[in-house]
Amino acid sequence: MKKADRQQSNQRLRKVLDDRPRRIRMLLERGLIKNASEIPEDAIPIDPEHSPHAGTTIPAVFYQDIEFVCADCGKPDFWSAGSQQHYFEVSKASPYKQPKHCYDCRQKELARKTQARMNAGHAPR
Ligand SMILES: [Zn+2]
Repeated sequence: MKKADRQQSNQRLRKVLDDRPRRIRMLLERGLIKNASEIPEDAIPIDPEHSPHAGTTIPAVFYQDIEFVCADCGKPDFWSAGSQQHYFEVSKASPYKQPKHCYDCRQKELARKTQARMNAGHAPR
């Protein structure tokens, strides 16, 4: 990740974190939680208006870092709460999707695809 991207995503994350009281209030009002203490301190409560999690069978009222093992190289990695929030609420991804590959393998795959596209763009010699 480039430094500028990281700073931008930190700014975005701060906004989401500042939104925490409103999100918890909405979850309480909708009866999705009974008590604000159901949301761990290090978790991001979902936004019931924008999260595809609301109303699904997945018992998720908050995003929290999810640890997983890369399907390619077997390295442990984690899916951060902030990127889940962005993935589901901004990109509107399916709540049933989860990453299976670590950051390094995703970068490698991206590079491979970019290279393949560049190769395809060149006329055969
Ligand atoms: Zn990997």
